[in-house]
Amino acid sequence: MVNSNHLNADQPSEFSMKKELLVSFLLLFIPASLLISTIFYAFSNQSQRYELQTIQIREESALRSATELTSMLFEQKLSDLMVLAEGETLRKYLHDDSMLNWVHVAREFSLFARRKPKYAQIRYIGIDGKELVRVNNRAGEQEIVPKTLLQNKGDRYYVQEAIKLSQGDIYVSPLDLNMENGAIEQPIVPTIRFATPVHDGYGTLRGILIINYTPEELLDRIADIFKTLIGDTVMLNSDGYWLMGAPDEQLWGFMHDSEETFGKQHPDVWATLLHSESGSVSTQSGLFIYQRAFPLNRAKLGSVENIQMDAAADQPTAKDRYWFYVSHISKALIDDLSSKRALISSITYLLLFLVTAFISSIYAKNAVQKKLAFLRLQQHATTDELTNIANRRELQKTGENEFKRAHRFNRNYAILMIDLDHFKVINDTHGHSIGDEVLKHIANICLDITRTEDLLARYGGEEFVMLLPETDIEGARQLAERICQDVRNRPFESANGPISITVSIGVSEIGPVDTSYSDILLRADKALYQAKSEGRDRVVVMSVKIIEKS
Ligand code: GH3
Ligand code: MG
Ligand code: MG
Repeated sequence: MVNSNHLNADQPSEFSMKKELLVSFLLLFIPASLLISTIFYAFSNQSQRYELQTIQIREESALRSATELTSMLFEQKLSDLMVLAEGETLRKYLHDDSMLNWVHVAREFSLFARRKPKYAQIRYIGIDGKELVRVNNRAGEQEIVPKTLLQNKGDRYYVQEAIKLSQGDIYVSPLDLNMENGAIEQPIVPTIRFATPVHDGYGTLRGILIINYTPEELLDRIADIFKTLIGDTVMLNSDGYWLMGAPDEQLWGFMHDSEETFGKQHPDVWATLLHSESGSVSTQSGLFIYQRAFPLNRAKLGSVENIQMDAAADQPTAKDRYWFYVSHISKALIDDLSSKRALISSITYLLLFLVTAFISSIYAKNAVQKKLAFLRLQQHATTDELTNIANRRELQKTGENEFKRAHRFNRNYAILMIDLDHFKVINDTHGHSIGDEVLKHIANICLDITRTEDLLARYGGEEFVMLLPETDIEGARQLAERICQDVRNRPFESANGPISITVSIGVSEIGPVDTSYSDILLRADKALYQAKSEGRDRVVVMSVKIIEKS
């Protein structure tokens, strides 16, 4: 149908800037933020699940390296023990305990001790428990203890345990603190003893070789590994006493007959620790990750001569010495990690959200500006700049379309051609700009009368055309009369007083032989010419019949 006549010069009609902005904004923002939310939700859910797992895997692997380090360091010490026990010097002494042979053994022990500052004592003890050769190794000084000062150690647990072993077997004592004169030596000296039975060339058990070792290196390196762990890490002995990682007053509790153990503090965790070599336990107080460490790894000692490997050699027995390395990730730490992650997530999400909103608003502004520019362009192409009614191009287009419709469906279609009378005089009298105002005034009078389906257009200088679809010639004539009358009755109110004006109008309608809208327009123009020549300020109707006659 025909376009609306009432147009605004600055902004296309029915165009709400705010509404358009909002729609464009939401069109991008809603799907984008939904997409971001979904991705973000899935991602943060996933990362939450994996974060604790990652920590656990890291802790497990650090504990495993502590365990491997333990076996590796001890492996070397245990092979030293075997080298001395099976050495030629000691064997010679077993067969001939002359003073010379004794000196050779003592000197071998002493030389060995010089190279191994952490071997605090190297001793050969007879089958009756009496010390036969003893070298003390303190603060870099090696002391061969004279025969007269040697003692009987037959009542010591490590002698009793070691003497029971078969050839090639090794006894590892618990790790404890060195005692001097019945008191714990200060500063503390952690000590561990390795012993192995000694046999002569006939295979007869003759005594035991025993080394007291200060495992400082091991403890230092384990402490270094513990520092890299996230959890609170402790080293426990097989009874659950703390050897490392706990407050000083809790450490080495068994030396002070303390009852306080890890097992007492965490009975459920302790029960699990005793049943498997490694793993993790989740409790009310957090996550415990543990790994058992064996100083005596029989499988690894295979390289040492004369060690008998039985099928179950690498299966630790109850008698085997072991420690626990336990990392505790407290509930508070887990909560702290997850609240930190939640905070970071929220901030990231908020930023993403703001960025999305920002991008969407830029996009919306851009889209609306483009749309507005397009609409303005379209309006300029179809509108007359002075009067804001349709221009001649728009008139041509709509006139032709209406003609086709009326022609095809055999409908009424009338056209008015309106021309201002003696307009040149108005221009000459009042000036061109007043003339412009008069043109607008006339356009408005015509607009007041037009229906929505009609189109008023500026045809040229001071000529207007009105398309009247669905209007017969009589209706058109009445409308034209009304326009004439209104224009006559409503002079233009200028600053210098009212300016009277009249119009002449030619009226025509669609005819059966018409082939285009121009045919109707031509007749309207002729009617207008007639109105002018008949004296102006009047309506002349040019019916189709008249044309057919002429
Ligand atoms: P008639 O009654 O025979 O139509 O006389 P007329 O003076 O109206 O007609 P004529 O064609 O001789 O002159 C038309 C005048 O309209 C000439 C021109 O200066 C003026 N005109 C055309 N377009 C505009 C316009 O946009 N603004 C103004 N102010 N005057 C215009
Ligand atoms: Mg004219
Ligand atoms: Mg005129």
